[in-house]
Amino acid sequence: MDLRYSPEEQAFEAEVRAFLKTDLPRDLSDKVRRQASLTKADMERWHAILNAKGWLAATWPKDHGGCDWSAVQQHIFEEECCRAFAPRIVPFGLKMLGPVLLKFGTPEQQADYLPRILDGRDWWCQGYSEPGAGSDLASLKTRATRDGEDYIINGQKTWTTLGQHANRIFCLVRTGTGGKPQAGISFILVDLDIPGIEMRPIRLIEGGYEVNEVFFTDTRVPASNLVGEENMGWTIAKYLLLHERSNIAGVGFSVQALEQLKSLATQITRGGKRLIDSPLFAARLAEVDIDLEAMKLTNLRMLSEAQKKGAPGPETSMLKIKGTVIRQTINDLARRALGPAAAPFPSEALDGNAAPVPEDHAANAASYFNNRKISIYGGSNEIQKNILTKGMMG
Ligand SMILES: Cc1cc2nc3c(=O)[nH]c(=O)nc-3n(C[C@H](O)[C@H](O)[C@H](O)COP(=O)(O)OP(=O)(O)OC[C@H]3O[C@@H](n4cnc5c(N)ncnc54)[C@H](O)[C@@H]3O)c2cc1C
Repeated sequence: MDLRYSPEEQAFEAEVRAFLKTDLPRDLSDKVRRQASLTKADMERWHAILNAKGWLAATWPKDHGGCDWSAVQQHIFEEECCRAFAPRIVPFGLKMLGPVLLKFGTPEQQADYLPRILDGRDWWCQGYSEPGAGSDLASLKTRATRDGEDYIINGQKTWTTLGQHANRIFCLVRTGTGGKPQAGISFILVDLDIPGIEMRPIRLIEGGYEVNEVFFTDTRVPASNLVGEENMGWTIAKYLLLHERSNIAGVGFSVQALEQLKSLATQITRGGKRLIDSPLFAARLAEVDIDLEAMKLTNLRMLSEAQKKGAPGPETSMLKIKGTVIRQTINDLARRALGPAAAPFPSEALDGNAAPVPEDHAANAASYFNNRKISIYGGSNEIQKNILTKGMMG
């Protein structure tokens, strides 16, 4: 198998690089480089720039305003965006719901919702998890009861990422009982600005706010918001999760983070020596560097397979596990490199005598804590291991 880019792919890579040089706003890339939080307006601005270029929806067909890029083109685009410190594309509408509507939606749903995702009128969030239904998603209890031309929804969702910015949520709801729990689930689209919905923030360990709880109380939704048929939600959920997991490998993010770590280890000195020259630290760096190189090759190998099959398969679980472990290892090494400066609340601060923690350092500590999530969301790594084992052993 030849893992080098073809001449066309190399030309595409050069085109993406040139575009990012001219069209990626400097203030946005500076924010990403400093690992600062992006506002809703920042994310929308980047989406609008990509949409104007026709580069926002990588996987969608051209006649729906997408790029119809091959798996390798998508990979090149994501790598280059990471290298240039571009904001990440918010995935819920573009990478999750879009593919679902294209496969399972009615022509009316496609015509109604897809353009609104592209031009930013709609910001979607994902309502899968519930307090008692995370890894065991099929045990979800939020109920949708048919009442004439509507469904009435009651229940609670949790961990709803960026829901505070959203005007719509796609939900898994229980519509049937009896038989296997997977058999009674439906996939439904809900406007967030209708009566009977309350969203409450959840604070994360690093102090940030990006996840929410969502409560539904007698929330009335038109039956035409159902995607696919009643009780076929599990099939749709699984299809969406394959797309969600393939984005979570994050090779580009790790490449970017490793470069920043190497630069940090060159600046920091211990006992008069640069940290990067310490045999122990250098060995740790080399280990994760080698793992990342192996991951890049595995990723390309799988992309080449996915290209032949036309869709990502269960191997995305492997990418998800390895990709998230590598990113967390890099975060951990940055935390170790910083030593006491990585503590977000140095005890001396209480005396008012603490030297201020430089902005770059504070961001590393925050990233370390924030990225504890990546081995959990999208289906925890333990669950991915179960999926892989089942695939291999039956
Ligand atoms: C920051 C963040 C953002 C998220 N965003 C969203 C979102 O936008 N929308 C959404 O719907 N959900 C979201 N999630 C939810 C996420 O998908 C769940 O947290 C995840 O599926 C794990 O479920 P749980 O938290 O209920 O943990 P549990 O299922 O209670 O698991 C707890 C621990 O037990 C392990 N475990 C459980 N069952 C098994 C088993 N059978 N074998 C081995 N180990 C097992 C797990 O791996 C984990 O380590 C988000 C989560 C986080 C942390």
